[in-house]
Amino acid sequence: MLNIDFEQEDWMLEGGCVYADTDLFFPVGSSMKAMKQANEAKAICMECPVVNECLDYAIRTNQDSGIWGGTTEEERKSIRRHYRKTGLVINR
Ligand code: SF4
Repeated sequence: MLNIDFEQEDWMLEGGCVYADTDLFFPVGSSMKAMKQANEAKAICMECPVVNECLDYAIRTNQDSGIWGGTTEEERKSIRRHYRKTGLVINR
């Protein structure tokens, strides 16, 4: 069972995923089906008007599951590591 923990922010209402199938954005496992769902979600993100706000939010609030801002959890971990190495601030 997923524990999706986030606080609502205004930009979220403008997200391209508002009316999309939630399962696409929270694929389970690494099966072909899950990868296909993740890719479909990422395609929606790439057209989303708030993709930057979404990725920023996911990074600073440590969203550790699902597709946020066009990234998987593994991709966000990589971004966080890069931020830490380069001294960029990720928490507000
Ligand atoms: S970037 Fe993706 S996950 Fe974030 S609000 Fe837009 S469609 Fe939803």
